[in-house]
Amino acid sequence: MTASAGLRVEGQEREALRTRLTALGFDEVRFAAVAGGVNASLRDWLDAGRQADMAWLERTADKRMNPELVLPGVRSVILLGVNYWPGAQIENRVQLAEPQPSKIENPRWARYALHADYHDTMKHGLAAAGKALEEMAGATPTDYRYYVDTGPVLERGWAARSGLGFRGKNAMLISKTHGNWLFLAVILTRLEIAPDEPLRKKPLSASGDEPAGLLCGKCTRCLDACPTQAFPAPGVVDARRCISYQTIENKGIIPRELRAGIGVRIYGCDVCLEVCPWNRFARAGRQLLLSARPGLAALPLFELLQLTPTRFAEIFKGTPIKRLKLTGLLRNACVVAGNVGGPELRPALTALAAHDSAVIRAHAVWAVRRIAGDETGEWLHAARLGETDEAVLAEYAGVT
Ligand code: SF4
Ligand code: SF4
Repeated sequence: MTASAGLRVEGQEREALRTRLTALGFDEVRFAAVAGGVNASLRDWLDAGRQADMAWLERTADKRMNPELVLPGVRSVILLGVNYWPGAQIENRVQLAEPQPSKIENPRWARYALHADYHDTMKHGLAAAGKALEEMAGATPTDYRYYVDTGPVLERGWAARSGLGFRGKNAMLISKTHGNWLFLAVILTRLEIAPDEPLRKKPLSASGDEPAGLLCGKCTRCLDACPTQAFPAPGVVDARRCISYQTIENKGIIPRELRAGIGVRIYGCDVCLEVCPWNRFARAGRQLLLSARPGLAALPLFELLQLTPTRFAEIFKGTPIKRLKLTGLLRNACVVAGNVGGPELRPALTALAAHDSAVIRAHAVWAVRRIAGDETGEWLHAARLGETDEAVLAEYAGVT
């Protein structure tokens, strides 16, 4: 064991640690005890297949439910939240952007994506937080591990346990002071840190989770507003029906029955976050660990449909969108075009109907069928002649 074994951080020492971590740029700093575990309902969710093809969630399930498998000897979880709400004034500027040459509404991006990749920017703060644990509490570098979003840790469950917020019926972590707009990071540590209290002491659910909807009352706005009916129950999202999954994680064909519900959402979906009344209390974040890229919201659809690999790399360098790759973004742009586009998109869509990628061709054909109706054959005559891919041919036939 290490020098930190047996030490308990509490009282003034704990508050000094919280102050130091807050000064690094984290808007929330909370502590939870590992004892008791968290969120065993993950297993039920996986057994129901609601993770779609995100196989890594299945592979890491045991670690997610048992942090001891990630860091032997772990005793505490430090929850760190960064508020990415830009404030109402900036929000309007982002959404209204500039006058458009086309009448088509600009595609909408998940708000978090309008930043330089938070995985990268927050890691600097986490590295500094680790140093603080060493200097202030005697931890060694092997006494802690930190993650931003991508580690085998159930951030939202631990955050609810620590009182940072509560799990809403929308399955998100909702803070009383930051609404739905927090990036979460965690540090697992062998230090024993006196835990914070959950927001309201209620019996845990049968699975050992903090209850979903603790402070939702009778509200069901998020469940009612979901464009693709992705909530089989309060607090449970079926990724297979969720626009965030379909436009970001799914690398193939988006099920046809979901495409209309995607509307103008080209990357992710904030609907079940935006409608939440708890956002009324959100203050603008300090953004010390973030780098906003609001200009992305002004990109018009006709420009997105004509992106080249070079332009894609230029525009999306350093953002989370780069991981979607050009193929995924063009696919999503075709879906948006099919939902809101008009004849002015004809050149771009007919070009994409002859793209090297069958995934793009399939969605371009779908878009043209939606826009052109009886004139589809005229628009796509040349592309149709050379088509051999079954999935694309199914789009020409409109077969489900
Ligand atoms: Fe529904 Fe959008 Fe929320 Fe997914 S992110 S559950 S599609 S509202
Ligand atoms: Fe809860 Fe209503 Fe917010 Fe949904 S919208 S998480 S039901 S408060």
